[in-house]
Amino acid sequence: MKKNRKKCSKCKQYYSLEKFNNSSQTKDGKGGYCKECSAAYQKESRKRKYQVNPALELLKKSCEAAFRRSQPEYVKDGYAHVTCCYMSAKEFWSDLWNDDNFRESWIKQSMIFVNSGIYKDRPTLDRIDSKKGYEKVNLQVLPYWKNVTDGASRECEVYVIKDLRLNDKMNYSRIGEAKEDLIRRYHIPINVLNQVDHGSVIDAGNGIGVLIQTIKGEPKTDGGCKYRMVWNLSKTIFDIKTDEEIIIEKTQLQLGVSGIQIKKS
Ligand SMILES: [Zn+2]
Repeated sequence: MKKNRKKCSKCKQYYSLEKFNNSSQTKDGKGGYCKECSAAYQKESRKRKYQVNPALELLKKSCEAAFRRSQPEYVKDGYAHVTCCYMSAKEFWSDLWNDDNFRESWIKQSMIFVNSGIYKDRPTLDRIDSKKGYEKVNLQVLPYWKNVTDGASRECEVYVIKDLRLNDKMNYSRIGEAKEDLIRRYHIPINVLNQVDHGSVIDAGNGIGVLIQTIKGEPKTDGGCKYRMVWNLSKTIFDIKTDEEIIIEKTQLQLGVSGIQIKKS
């Protein structure tokens, strides 16, 4: 063996020691495979394990990601204050997997995902109370599409616009619930329904449009114009003697609007 160099037992090439991961199980403190071979091996191994037990591998991935998000150094909108009662990702997924009810619903959703192959069916960890953290009593299994993006658990309102008039208003305790209901009622594609707080009227067909906004949500607008607001103004005078109506002036004012937000007054 050349000094400060080591042979990878997989690709048989010699590399400097920093090309190897640390290991507590070898004399020289370095793993037997070079970093590249080691990564490829782990990827393969994950794939094999996934084929044997996809539900467990999906749960491991979700718990690892949730655990990462719960660490103090993780700061990203919406996750900064999420706590996790587990000391490691392994402890996290073991606890969930050993719970009969949780495991059963996780496997059920995993099988739906494996069969459809569509990402929206992937099982996800949903915090029932979004103000509480990751702990078994506060977790339930939800397909990704119900748990999507920021704050699927936020309360929201849906305004139904029919023939250009406000026709109905519906309240939901969760965005996911609203989407599910709108899909059932109007068969609107799920990706279109992601326009929450966009201030856009989503076309539901048959002259019906829906506007989805969260309670206390601020409209997300890119500054571009989506709509044109039109005021039709007319100035009318009457003849006092005959009470005859004479319109003397009709004007129109137009303004570009970047989005619509309906507020209760
Ligand atoms: Zn190698």
